Amino acid sequence: MEWFHEFYNGVGIAIKVKRKIVDLKSDYQHIQVFETLNFGKMLVLDGKIQLTERDEAFYHEMLVHVPMITHKNPKKVLIIGGGDGGSLREVLKHDPSDVVMVELDKAVVDVSKEYIGIDCGAFDDERVSLFYEDGIVFVKNCDEKFDVIIVDGTDPNPFSEHIISPEFYDSCRKISDVFVTQSQSPFVQQEYFLKIYANVRKVMDAKLYLNYVPTYPLCLWSYIIHSKSYPGYEVIKRRYGEREIETKHYNPEIHVSSFSLPNWVKELLKSSSP
Ligand code: SAM
Repeated sequence: MEWFHEFYNGVGIAIKVKRKIVDLKSDYQHIQVFETLNFGKMLVLDGKIQLTERDEAFYHEMLVHVPMITHKNPKKVLIIGGGDGGSLREVLKHDPSDVVMVELDKAVVDVSKEYIGIDCGAFDDERVSLFYEDGIVFVKNCDEKFDVIIVDGTDPNPFSEHIISPEFYDSCRKISDVFVTQSQSPFVQQEYFLKIYANVRKVMDAKLYLNYVPTYPLCLWSYIIHSKSYPGYEVIKRRYGEREIETKHYNPEIHVSSFSLPNWVKELLKSSSP
């Protein structure tokens, strides 16, 4: 058995893998799927862990249910990225009428459907329209409105920084009521974390919330949400109950507490305020 390693800024994670199931180069990225010893199947893009079966719900449920519950009646939803299908699966739990998903790389969807299956059939749901194109171009040219936009994109790198640009976020703002994006680790990926936070806040009011995802960089993960208003605990609990959502990780208590930030994060945010 071998170890899979991913390194961040001078630290990393090691996961024991039983076998490699997929190893291919698409037009956009290097796609790998491994069967691990303790975390189930694992999707890796360009050497970076995107999910493991064991903890993907930690990430997807917090990315999706916080904005979806924040909206009082989310019927039309746009997902940018999200090729593994985990976010789509969670969005459908809210019984939307239309979900548009814009994923750059069809190969990620094909591989995820065939070899991982965390979409649980969501890709074949009749309410879902799937487009294989650049989400940045899609939102720029889009004249439809969405109740919620969810950005489930890959880690930014010097070549893909436009997915965290103020122009992209501004296009999203114009066509949504509630907006959310994953925003990296505030602990070991501070450069991109701060850039995402600053760029979102150039074009909209936004709040940060935190979560833990064991196989993401040193466990701590962040998300940024924009909404005109935020429901309190009682409303969150009522909406969660009324929609009869079943979750492995998310609950109304975690929803509320995820907005409580440690002092060092508050200090970091102050340093980036426009
Ligand atoms: N939660 C994951 C993470 O941060 O590790 C993200 C997973 S999901 C597989 C990310 C997806 O975003 C990939 O499938 C990638 O192809 C897609 N993506 C990247 N840039 C994109 C763009 N500009 N438009 C649409 N999809 C994009």
